[in-house]
Amino acid sequence: MSKKQKPVIVVHGGAGAITPERNQPVMEGIKRAAKKGFDVLKRGGTAVDGVMKAVMVMEDDGSFNAGYGSSLNIDRSVEMDASIMDGKTLQAGAVALLKDVKNPVRLARIVMEKTDHVFIAGEGAERLATLFKLERVNAVTELRLKYYEGQKKKLLEGQFELPKLASLIKEYPELLESDTVGAVALDKEGNLAAATSTGGFPLKLPGRIGDSPLIGCGNYADNESGACSATGVGEIAIRLVLAKTVCAYIEAGKTPQEAAEQAIRLVNQRMPIGYNSMGLVAVDVHGRIGAAHNSPNLCWAYLTPETPKPVSSPTAKNVKESH
Ligand code: ASP
Repeated sequence: MSKKQKPVIVVHGGAGAITPERNQPVMEGIKRAAKKGFDVLKRGGTAVDGVMKAVMVMEDDGSFNAGYGSSLNIDRSVEMDASIMDGKTLQAGAVALLKDVKNPVRLARIVMEKTDHVFIAGEGAERLATLFKLERVNAVTELRLKYYEGQKKKLLEGQFELPKLASLIKEYPELLESDTVGAVALDKEGNLAAATSTGGFPLKLPGRIGDSPLIGCGNYADNESGACSATGVGEIAIRLVLAKTVCAYIEAGKTPQEAAEQAIRLVNQRMPIGYNSMGLVAVDVHGRIGAAHNSPNLCWAYLTPETPKPVSSPTAKNVKESH
């Protein structure tokens, strides 16, 4: 598309429950991310530049389950996943199981732009980070250690093994205090991009990879349809290829809002296993935005030339029905 577009950015800070102690930092964090990402777009930066900047702001914040402050796995260590996608070229990059890369989304972009691959995990990804001299950080924070101890204590009250995820969440809904971050954007050239970054599900097994770095599941962008970033229980988004599904609904004629709501109805219909826990943000090439969830919260913010300040909310359209 060659005609000039008004840039748009939508960010989310996860579908987890927002406890009172986290409310202010989280809401401030998403607004700052939307603003920084939008500034990049206003200056003529690409949608890829915009979503990367917005996600980096949240990775550095410490209040989100991404980058610094990521959730801890059952071994008490961090394993971060991220991905980024360019809707113009359908190029994509993803990384997983990172231990101390400060900005996983930057490494995902390096995979996209500097390698022939889409997805690199673990030691190989860490080596790439070293090659490109990416900053490292100890991503384990006091807050996450506190959450970990509480969550693990509850988990062990009844049993000594990890049950399957669905019954785990049913029994311990506070496990859903997870706050993956993501951003979708439309730039002045009319190109879309999406980026998603996470520490993954709290108490996950070592080596578990969620939806966030899986192209089409937690993240997708295509100029022919839309851009979408997902948050929530990764195993649901993987099985429904959820981000791509949202984009397919947009391609079929729905607005991003209708598409996000339709995808949450699909979750309710096809995954009726007692835990409601997905959130979605989306944008299309016309700059229309959408956000919907079935989780308790979805903190999100957006900025367009019509909104002088980021518009933010701890909830969006909460979809409970399945049809
Ligand atoms: N979707 C992420 C995962 O399952 C977690 C989240 O969104 O908070 O890894």
